[in-house]
Amino acid sequence: MTSHLAHLLRLRRWILLALAIGAFVTAATGDEAEPETPRRIYLDEFRPTSSLKTPQHLLERAKYPCINVHTHPGRLSDDEIDEMVRVMDESNIAVSVSLDGRAGAAFPEHMKKLTTRHPGRFVVFVRMDFVGDGDRQESDTWDIHDPDFGIAMADRLTEAVRQGASGLKLLKDLGLYQRDRDGKLYAPDDPRFDPVWKRSGELNIPVLWHCGDPVAFFGETSEKNERWEELYRHPEWSFHGKDFPEHQELIDARIRVIARHPDTTFICAHMADIPEDLAKLAGYLDQYPNMNVEIAARVAELGRQPYTARRFFLKYADRILFGTDGVPPKSELIPHWRFLETWDEYFPYEDNPFPPQGLWNIYGIGLPDDALQKIYHGNAIRLIPGVTIPE
Ligand SMILES: [Zn+2]
Repeated sequence: MTSHLAHLLRLRRWILLALAIGAFVTAATGDEAEPETPRRIYLDEFRPTSSLKTPQHLLERAKYPCINVHTHPGRLSDDEIDEMVRVMDESNIAVSVSLDGRAGAAFPEHMKKLTTRHPGRFVVFVRMDFVGDGDRQESDTWDIHDPDFGIAMADRLTEAVRQGASGLKLLKDLGLYQRDRDGKLYAPDDPRFDPVWKRSGELNIPVLWHCGDPVAFFGETSEKNERWEELYRHPEWSFHGKDFPEHQELIDARIRVIARHPDTTFICAHMADIPEDLAKLAGYLDQYPNMNVEIAARVAELGRQPYTARRFFLKYADRILFGTDGVPPKSELIPHWRFLETWDEYFPYEDNPFPPQGLWNIYGIGLPDDALQKIYHGNAIRLIPGVTIPE
């Protein structure tokens, strides 16, 4: 045995002895034992229960008849549509806007499916159709690559409006997924689309446009990303790196379109994807009177900044529309009513045991009646053909 090892063993004996004496002294003097370290948990196991006791108003329905300008009933069966309308009745939603109309023969079919069973309860927007006469499976064959795509699409739009369409819908694929034959992303303000924006104005229908996504989706999925947990679950939602544009490039591209087409009404989906910076959004709204926004899937963002959001909602009450995305069950609608109508504090923005869009809770902004009426229905009635509320 080396003397070094012998030394270590001696040291170890002393340490054990010291620990034993320490334990004896602790027991003898009644001191607290070392606290047991709690189990280390993963972020997705965290389920904190708030200890706050503050007034709660679990509003079951909107205070005024409401138009939901952002829904997706495209794949619903007749029974599911009936159920959707039942929830609309209970929640005081007069009309839902389906953003799932497809240009061509499918359009009147979808329209009929919704409106014959439930007249007056739905209007339908038609989607920009990048495929056209091409083969859906072969993106090289799609109409979008034709330099005259805009004119052809404008004519399809006219046809859809003749069949009853109330607006044009764009998904975020323009700017994030649609690529030319060389694999380069089409810019949302590519001039080939101009005839479509122009025609929308001539037809007097709004363009409801989702361009971009939350700014956090464009940042690195690191421990500093405020939506890390969500991006960890959905890595496909990250637009960081590769050849994706910056968040602001998409915002700028759509703004250039809005500026070029002052006679066309734009409703920018999801608070124009800049709810994190309402001062910036206010600047755009001040500059472009044809720009509007809807709140779908952004209550989480708005409700974490109640002072700023309330000022914004009061100032721009004529420019904000109500929307949810998806086909919301009643439980998902309640946080919307609470956010807009109450002063409730620190409540979950979704009916989910885990906040899915950022680990925080939200606050109500207690809007006055006149602002609520505009946001719930006034603006939608003014901007969207075919939308009415019962007398
Ligand atoms: Zn949507």
